[in-house]
Amino acid sequence: MLNLVLFGPPGAGKGTQSEKLINKYQLVHISTGDLFRAHIKNQTALGQKVSQLIADGELVPDQITIDMLEEEIDKNPNAKGFVFDGFPRTIPQAIELDKFLASKGSSIAGVIALDVDKDELVKRVALRQKETGRLDDQAEKSQKRIDEYFNKIILVLPYYDEQQKLTKINGIGEIEEIFTNLCTVIDSY
Ligand code: AMP
Repeated sequence: MLNLVLFGPPGAGKGTQSEKLINKYQLVHISTGDLFRAHIKNQTALGQKVSQLIADGELVPDQITIDMLEEEIDKNPNAKGFVFDGFPRTIPQAIELDKFLASKGSSIAGVIALDVDKDELVKRVALRQKETGRLDDQAEKSQKRIDEYFNKIILVLPYYDEQQKLTKINGIGEIEEIFTNLCTVIDSY
């Protein structure tokens, strides 16, 4: 199995690049943000539980997020691998993902972090807000989420660096150029 984590702040291009990666490598895309948004849209019990947290730009508690992610992995028993997008965001999530994959005889092949500076992120997320109307992309909330990434979420990276699984790539430039750089890293696994 080829399991990848695409890591980066809001607006780094994780969703865009994930779509291209799953087509090229025939993987299953798991975006915890997309899954939560689908629950909210469908007004499931989980959606109702998390909708306020998400609208406020807060993280959903680990156990809720982990349970949802594991259920999604289990829905795809024949997957050639997964692209995890927006997960893990905490060390407990990273540890649990490793344990869960190990229980299936699998593991994370590598983590690729897209590097984009704060000014560029603010611009991109503002544009996305106009296009999608996402509440958590509104200026105040998105600033909070971007700050949360650089203050807290980024602390997950040393966990993978210690396992020699981390590669950082420049997330600014043409989409195709960034994709080519991602593929070069993945093809080296
Ligand atoms: P995203 O689309 O990845 O930016 O995620 C949107 C929102 O969903 C985040 O701001 C969090 O509220 C929630 N969320 C997504 N993934 C996670 C995660 N791994 N841990 C906690 N909350 C998450």
